[in-house]
Amino acid sequence: NLSLKLEKAFQTLKGQGQITEINVASTVKEIRKALIDADVNFKVAKEVTDDIKEKALGQNVLTSISPGQLLIKITNDELTDLMGGVSEDINIQGNPAIILIAGLQGSGKTTFSGKLASYLKRQGRSVLLVACDIYRPAAIDQLKVLGQQVGVEVFAQPENKDAVKIAKAALEHAKTINSKIIIVDTAGRLAVDEEMMDEIARLKEALNPSETLFVVDSMTGQDAVNTAKAFNDRLNFNGVVLTKLDGDSRGGAALSIRRVVEKPIKFISTGEKMEALDRFYPDRMASRILGMGDVVSLVERAQQAYDEDEAKRLSKKIRKNQFDFNDFLQQLEQIKKMGNMKDLLGMIPGMGKAMKGIDIDDNSFKPIEAIIRSMTMEERQNPDIINGGRKNRIAKGSGRTIQEVNNLLKQFADMRKLMKTMNKMGGGKRALSALN
Ligand code: GDP
Ligand code: MG
Repeated sequence: NLSLKLEKAFQTLKGQGQITEINVASTVKEIRKALIDADVNFKVAKEVTDDIKEKALGQNVLTSISPGQLLIKITNDELTDLMGGVSEDINIQGNPAIILIAGLQGSGKTTFSGKLASYLKRQGRSVLLVACDIYRPAAIDQLKVLGQQVGVEVFAQPENKDAVKIAKAALEHAKTINSKIIIVDTAGRLAVDEEMMDEIARLKEALNPSETLFVVDSMTGQDAVNTAKAFNDRLNFNGVVLTKLDGDSRGGAALSIRRVVEKPIKFISTGEKMEALDRFYPDRMASRILGMGDVVSLVERAQQAYDEDEAKRLSKKIRKNQFDFNDFLQQLEQIKKMGNMKDLLGMIPGMGKAMKGIDIDDNSFKPIEAIIRSMTMEERQNPDIINGGRKNRIAKGSGRTIQEVNNLLKQFADMRKLMKTMNKMGGGKRALSALN
């Protein structure tokens, strides 16, 4: 069977396979296990891997990597997206801007308050720390020590037992010393209870902060999600701070929390020292959660090398007027993967301009593909030999009309003519790169 042979030859030419249920089954299990090991909620881990597998089925695989390896890379990208894609900064608005810190006792609020003060001070801002933990005198001292360490004033009223009043007094004080930001450290309890929630909710209402951050210990695993939900239901906070990531935790809480409360994680805390604070980067956390960074970078390198080789090969062929239907078909495969015609045009050296005005929209892929696939290798490489008889055969084989075959041949010839003109115009390479 000729078309089967051609299909096979084409596969070898492309050097590609595809992701199927079968060739990634064991990887899917491995990925799910990695997520659960990283403390991602079991249900979330299952949903995420099912979604990703569904999306990945049928995707083309480069020869230099396995379908499983590609799936790991796809998962990594998907986790990045699920955690917001990009890093989000805190909201600083108002004069002074108010940042309210909430969370359970021991989660790392006071430590984070000191770190955040230092972080903002390093950005050249004037900050005031406010001690609103009215239950433990030691908490005030702790904040004072941290304030001293980072060179930021700490406002406290140890005799005052009303957190709202302390915060309001701090606000006045900030204005007199011309502080632009106040960070309000609050009291937490060991578990969610009404009294704590009432107090923090009253503080939020009275202060109307531009940013309310929920601090959570990443080591608490599944509990972290429940706590986050309880706080968010009551406070509708703006962002999450994930602490103690210097421990064994792989950070799965980040994914679960993001999915459950749909609020961005903004900072991660990685130690007791004041410098141990980082902005949250979804891509870094994704690799950490998945714990398969080597595979991810292997695939990235393979994809990059493939793209570079392809681009080189294509621009060489265009320069030599050898761009043929096989190249064209391969480019169509690329667009289908990217799902966007415009992106493709930009990718082929010199092609952006060459194809302007040639009408190929995304829906015309299928007929075009069918027609090209019905050509012999020889015809694809040298379309000039396609005479009436051959057109007839191609039309029959692809289930398209002669008219459509003619149109494609005409468009392709026009495109090649343009490429040729461009080559002549500027001596090849220079003109091509200028057009891109
Ligand atoms: P708070 O009760 O929420 O104010 O929590 P603290 O800030 O007092 O922190 C509780 C304990 O956790 C303290 O011993 C901190 O030194 C420690 N801690 C806070 N953040 C981190 C962190 O990122 N990593 C580690 N290893 N310890 C932390
Ligand atoms: Mg504290």
